[in-house]
Amino acid sequence: MKTIFEKSNNVDGINFFDEGMKTDFISEKFLRADKIGLPQMSELEVLRHYKELSDMNFCIEKGFYPLGSCTMKYNPKVNEMLANLDGFLNIHPLLKDKDVQGALHLMYNLQEVLKTITGMDAISLQPAAGAHGEFSGMMIVKKYFEVKGENRKKVIIPDSAHGTNPASAKMAGFDIIEVKSNEKGQVDIEALKSLLDNDVAAIMMTNPNTLGIFEENVLEISELMHKNGSLLYYDGANFNAIMGYTNPKLMGFDIVHINLHKTFSTPHGGGGPGAGPIGVVENLKDFLPVPVVEFKDGLYHRNYNLINSIGNAKGFFGNFGVLVRAYSYILMMGDKLKRVSEDAVLNANYIKEHLKGKYKLPYDEPCMHEFVISGDKQKEKGVSTLNIAKRLMDSNIHPPTIYFPLIVHEAIMVEPTETESKQRLDEFINIMLKIADEADNNPEIILSAPNTTTIKKIDETLAARKPNLSFRTEE
Ligand SMILES: *Cc1c(COP(=O)(O)O)cnc(C)c1O
Repeated sequence: MKTIFEKSNNVDGINFFDEGMKTDFISEKFLRADKIGLPQMSELEVLRHYKELSDMNFCIEKGFYPLGSCTMKYNPKVNEMLANLDGFLNIHPLLKDKDVQGALHLMYNLQEVLKTITGMDAISLQPAAGAHGEFSGMMIVKKYFEVKGENRKKVIIPDSAHGTNPASAKMAGFDIIEVKSNEKGQVDIEALKSLLDNDVAAIMMTNPNTLGIFEENVLEISELMHKNGSLLYYDGANFNAIMGYTNPKLMGFDIVHINLHKTFSTPHGGGGPGAGPIGVVENLKDFLPVPVVEFKDGLYHRNYNLINSIGNAKGFFGNFGVLVRAYSYILMMGDKLKRVSEDAVLNANYIKEHLKGKYKLPYDEPCMHEFVISGDKQKEKGVSTLNIAKRLMDSNIHPPTIYFPLIVHEAIMVEPTETESKQRLDEFINIMLKIADEADNNPEIILSAPNTTTIKKIDETLAARKPNLSFRTEE
């Protein structure tokens, strides 16, 4: 594709002033002698250029996006309208509390509703993403033991965990201890017991875990940890599976983050803004990042004075626009949030059951909102999971998450989400089955994929080591 400079022709795209406009009041030395060098095109050609560019992107509006663990569900456009209301868009974070009562009211209500959904006793909306919530949570764990006068150094993390978990705990200064999964894809209780001592500050878990499997022994785990004087951290990225059915408080967790941009349907991807509010139980309330929004004497106000607070996790309000979108989504759904989880779980199981003959299913258990299959059978024919992912792109499907979690060989992690119709799920199933047949009979066609995208097959190693981010797609 050509750049806009290359497409430029001699049309005057825009007339800044009349030919006859007087410039003699401007000193000669300030007048431009040469042409400015901006591309010249008609308005229509400019629009076509940008449309062509945007067509090169993939997005949820363009096709099925089963990217496991990322919950790429539909983001209702009404959320965008609300986040773009003048009163939200144009307020300044330094305005006084009394002048931003509407915004603070919204934040207060969001805190309250997240308390209900998570079961936690207090919420801070500060952190900007899931990983940021984890880091804030780990700072709370650290400070909690400091205040108690204990020096606990270890954080236990299951071998199936998302990479951000060990990264966050390590950044907060902890040593990471890995606990193995058992044959059912769940935390091995005996292995966990053998790791417990007075040096263990916390365990970080997600439930359902990254295999999409519900940890049945979570109550026993929380009892073990609490008896050991340790805390339990809940990675809430998989909340889409459990809303209204259970919550981390009931499971015995002390600290939780929620990815508003995943579960509560605000656009994400490309590193754009997210929000990872954290919730805590009663005895950790004073450790939350500030400000938290409170209501007193008829006024909503920001409270910066929590005695043990870990401080600011983010400037001002946090990512306010994301908070508006999430709140709008939650209000719109109401008690149908429960239905969201039902459909998310149903959709995942439906696909899993149809794929498990042709693809290896390493943990043959009922799944929650996502599941993990293995490309092992196809690998024997010389077709890797990476090849399968690329082949899906030829059918206008975003590849699932691959090679994660690490404990499954040739992992393919599929999360359809609740916003997909049965027709789309069937279409995906048929394409996956067709690819499995191709692996048996015609592997060449998979190995040459993708064939329909702007950028064709690339050298993965070179792309990672020496990324060529040039606009020249043909090079
Ligand atoms: C997405 C995700 C995270 C990290 O969340 P970000 O908002 O991307 O920082 C952590 N854990 C799990 C299981 C996730 O899926």
